[in-house]
Amino acid sequence: MKKLLLSVAFGALLTACAPDVPQTADTAAAPAAEAEAPTQERSAAEEMHFRTLVLDTHLDTPAYFHDPSYTFSKKGSFDEDGTHVDLPRMNEGGLDGGFWVIFTPQGPLDEASYLAARNMAVLRQMSIREFAAKYAGDVELAFSTSDAERIAAAGKKIVFQSMENSYPLGTDISMLDTFYVGGLRMIAPVHFRNNQFADSATDVNEVFGGLSPLGEELVREANRLGLILDGSHASDGTVRDMLEISTTPLILSHSGPKAVYDHPRNVPDDLLIAIAEDGGVIQINAYGSYLEALPASPERLAALAELEAEFGSDTSAMDEATMTAYRAAYETVNTSFPAPRSTFEKFMEHLLYTLELVGPEHVGVGADWDGGGGVDGMKDIVDLPKVTAALVEAGYSEEDVANIWGGNVLRLMSEVDAARSADLSSPQVLN
Ligand SMILES: [Zn+2]
Repeated sequence: MKKLLLSVAFGALLTACAPDVPQTADTAAAPAAEAEAPTQERSAAEEMHFRTLVLDTHLDTPAYFHDPSYTFSKKGSFDEDGTHVDLPRMNEGGLDGGFWVIFTPQGPLDEASYLAARNMAVLRQMSIREFAAKYAGDVELAFSTSDAERIAAAGKKIVFQSMENSYPLGTDISMLDTFYVGGLRMIAPVHFRNNQFADSATDVNEVFGGLSPLGEELVREANRLGLILDGSHASDGTVRDMLEISTTPLILSHSGPKAVYDHPRNVPDDLLIAIAEDGGVIQINAYGSYLEALPASPERLAALAELEAEFGSDTSAMDEATMTAYRAAYETVNTSFPAPRSTFEKFMEHLLYTLELVGPEHVGVGADWDGGGGVDGMKDIVDLPKVTAALVEAGYSEEDVANIWGGNVLRLMSEVDAARSADLSSPQVLN
């Protein structure tokens, strides 16, 4: 039902933008991307895309919710403002929602810093809930698989919540229940650096060889509450420990196969297979520097070296005025000598490789939108129908496509929810 509505809306947009429509002041002023929208009929693969429930398991968009220059209901542009996700582009690219991330950067591992981070994370969760309230006609908070189905059927976007980096929980894992009541349904123990719970994939030192004793407690508590455990950013040792301890299958919400590109953030085949055999899902990232080696041009390297000579290398030590000047200078370098970008074809290589390795019941997409994701040929979510077209081209059926885009993660969510401790009542959030 919802897909039909979307199709009609999209069709109307195409008709309005067709060249034979007389140019009024309004249509002449339409954003360039709309004015250039293709006028041909949709292909069969596009039709399939727009009738499929399409979820992404790692949307960093809440990072913009306190940015006055960002408006969810207005169409932005990656080239102009660096953003990937908003309501008009969700409609245009057929993205039905996903997991909106509560991310907290990591500071020192001490009580004062944990408390500061906890406050930040609480505010981020509140901002996601405020966002859902403000755009109540277009989006809705989801707490379960049945919520997702109901929300999609009503033609709205699905807002699940996940937490990237458990650092803000400090050493008091009872906070996990508080976030759960607020709607949290997925938790990743660690981010770029080791923390109190686990070793990170990208930290040069190994502290625990996997989960710490507190990290093991976190996994058990997530199982008890019915939260999906996310091994993205975790070291291989941490993921192995999570597999061993968790009573429910894991997700990698935004990761990739190491066999395609050997990067610490990517995961070796044996571990991907172990996650899949356990019933878990692997959601493929579109973060350029995890997809392939992208060496900067000598001109860019020289410009960056000049920037460092002028401003130093420690941005955290800058006062506000210096930081503003630094950002402007950095932007100039990026415009003059753009950072090399990966491609849609390379992203598809990672996706198709993992599909071949573990099968279409265990793979999906977590492209790191608004968190560094996006490649040439798929700069933002508007290009998502190209992924469906490439999957069809590779021989995947409509059922496979539906599993890849949302079915697999919803199946995992149901399984994790069913394993929620029988001692716990359902949290009363909004009744
Ligand atoms: Zn990440």
